[in-house]
Amino acid sequence: MTDLKSMTLEEMGEVFSALGQPAFRARQVFAWLHRGAVSFEEMSDLPKDLRRELAQRWVISHPEVERKQVSREDGTVKYLWRLSDGNCVETVLMRYRHGNTVCVSSQVGCRMGCAFCASTLGGKVRDLTAAEILDQVLFTQLDSGEAVSNIVMMGIGEPLDNFDNVLRFLTLVNHPQGLNIGMRHISLSTCGLIEKIDKLAEYGLQLTLSVSLHAPDDATRSRLMPVNRSVGVDKLMAACRRYFDRTGRRISFEYAMIDSVNDSDAQADLLAGLLAGTGSHVNLIPLNHVEESPLKPSRRVRQFQRRLEERGITVTVRRKLGGDIDASCGQLRRRAMGPGPQERK
Ligand code: SAH
Repeated sequence: MTDLKSMTLEEMGEVFSALGQPAFRARQVFAWLHRGAVSFEEMSDLPKDLRRELAQRWVISHPEVERKQVSREDGTVKYLWRLSDGNCVETVLMRYRHGNTVCVSSQVGCRMGCAFCASTLGGKVRDLTAAEILDQVLFTQLDSGEAVSNIVMMGIGEPLDNFDNVLRFLTLVNHPQGLNIGMRHISLSTCGLIEKIDKLAEYGLQLTLSVSLHAPDDATRSRLMPVNRSVGVDKLMAACRRYFDRTGRRISFEYAMIDSVNDSDAQADLLAGLLAGTGSHVNLIPLNHVEESPLKPSRRVRQFQRRLEERGITVTVRRKLGGDIDASCGQLRRRAMGPGPQERK
């Protein structure tokens, strides 16, 4: 059975018209689903027999809280959700002065193989549906009782490797009759899939695209990120320029600081050279140590930042939230599911 919640309002309209129902029924059901209804039974403004008919044809996805951890340091909440097929994904709720941000996952696992990342260690199990991505925002809001104003697609998975479902999720979460979260309040982070960056550019969305760069030279980037081996930094930067030309939105670059790998003065200079004149912004991320990895956090974050700034680049250093609750990068899922095959069929 298909999950009705992954459908756009227009598609739902077609479903209801095929059932001989008036168009406003689609709007009613859409609103219920986007308020977090978990059954047709509770849709009290629908005729009883229609509710029964819908339940026979459709399912409504909803995750269960498998684990929940609240940081004593800063109130960050990390959810491990169990999906309907038994797989688990993580979502993090971060509280900032300017509002609440949720970090959502886009896949169960990841196939990109970045050397520093815990999410990719067991490979990719499957893509998430649009409803399963939306559910992370919806049920984080419902469980925490707090409104979410910003979304970052920086959880488990590579969003552009699940392009259609992610785009559908963006349409749904942005919908005025749904959660109505503005595109400018959404960031999407990618390891740099060039063709997909070009494809995304065609939609001209006003979201913020973040590119995980992590190294300015091919030798280092290919060592850290296998995706770079077939592409290279120059082609990636060219795709970023095309994206900016097409959408008018500046790209932000993420750079995880790794001891003696990508934190030298020479690399800061190369990075500054790559970004000169683009108006782009660099977000330096103190590396989260992943048990299975020999890579260590850099001790040169401030020097690296200063060197970039001296060369005219705007730099922020990511504040570490939820350090006491494994609030990053697939670590909780890994701990909960064990290091073996992470599939649950
Ligand atoms: N697949 C997407 C989004 C997921 S990860 C991407 O690659 O951008 C979100 C960010 O966290 C990425 O910049 C990723 O490279 C970074 N990241 C992953 N593991 C990390 C770690 N151990 N320490 C610091 N940053 C990490």
